[in-house]
Amino acid sequence: MSVSTKTPSRTARRTWGFSESVIREMTRVARAHDAINLGQGFPDFPAPDLLKEAACQAIRDDVNQYAVTWGAPRLRTALEDKYRRVYGMEVEGDREITVTCGATEAMAAVLLAVVDPGDEVIVPVPFYENYGPDAVLCDATPVHLPLEAPDFHLDIDRLRGLVTEKTRAIILNTPNNPTGRVFTREELQAVADLAIERDFLVITDEIYEHILYEGEHIPVATLEGMRDRTITVSGFSKTFSITGWRVGTIVAPPDLTAAIRKVHDFLTVGAPAPLQEACAVGLESLGPEYYQEMVDKYRERRTILVDGLQSAGFRCAPPAGAYYILADFSEISPLDDVEFSLRLTREAGVTPVPASSFFHDPAMGRNLVRFVFCKENHTLEAAAERLRAFTGAGG
Ligand code: GLN
Repeated sequence: MSVSTKTPSRTARRTWGFSESVIREMTRVARAHDAINLGQGFPDFPAPDLLKEAACQAIRDDVNQYAVTWGAPRLRTALEDKYRRVYGMEVEGDREITVTCGATEAMAAVLLAVVDPGDEVIVPVPFYENYGPDAVLCDATPVHLPLEAPDFHLDIDRLRGLVTEKTRAIILNTPNNPTGRVFTREELQAVADLAIERDFLVITDEIYEHILYEGEHIPVATLEGMRDRTITVSGFSKTFSITGWRVGTIVAPPDLTAAIRKVHDFLTVGAPAPLQEACAVGLESLGPEYYQEMVDKYRERRTILVDGLQSAGFRCAPPAGAYYILADFSEISPLDDVEFSLRLTREAGVTPVPASSFFHDPAMGRNLVRFVFCKENHTLEAAAERLRAFTGAGG
């Protein structure tokens, strides 16, 4: 993303390099062609009844005015319990938790609270498309750290080579969108050691923390010495299949939380009050069997889509976490990823996201598209069938 200095404009320079979110654009393209949308990551199956009931109940109970700016007390208490129970992490809800309008607002509020103009923020590549623009909103510079294909591991020497006096933070997303990579303890420990040595913050995006097929989800904040220099972003969109509710969470040490809360207050005042109550009920009432069943179902969906893509001629591997598959289509088509995505939408009736939007250098995503599998089995089966018919492989 480069910022032109030539454009005469009534708009702020920081916006000039922004393009429309390719992910959301593809949703509009899918709708226009009535295609199966395997582009944007949102479920086509219902949210848990318990949550829906709790939200309706909260509205009927007139929980309809502003919640506490940094989060409803009941939700922050439920989050304290969650972090203690699941990760053995002691968190003080009064001083260390902020509830936001989704993880998207969380990430923007965090960066605005801890990054100064001129700072550098390290962003591993491929990335979820918001991190670079979030840094630019702070007049900071995103510095790109390519992850090594095909397994997308994090090369610590390469990271070390990118750290300068201006490095304020690294953003780590695990389980990862779009690669499905789950960083290992060794990788995270190496980043943690470097963060301590060179004095930068680690900002994590753990929105897929419960969607894990292999390996272990390790919050960086639980590594020794890291609690005080880690900001943990997560939320309920993926865990409870409620991407439209916009309830996100931040855990950070008290001094950072104080700044984050001020930014969050000026940005949005607070997240939707009745929906925060419902998320608290979800955390309190849904036990291990809910999380197990969710992962079992996602594992099944993963198999359907991986098999479907491979049998249609795509090259891809099952992801270890999250619900995305990066698929190489170079054996199917010589087109670039954008053209191929449009053609697939028009002619196959299936919409992916062109992968160049996950790379700072579009050429790196030229032969890749991203498919989501947060969809009903029959949706994925229908998509696989259409893809096979399109490529002529078994169709
Ligand atoms: N995280 C989802 C994705 O990557 C949704 C993105 C969005 O539109 N906010 O598709």
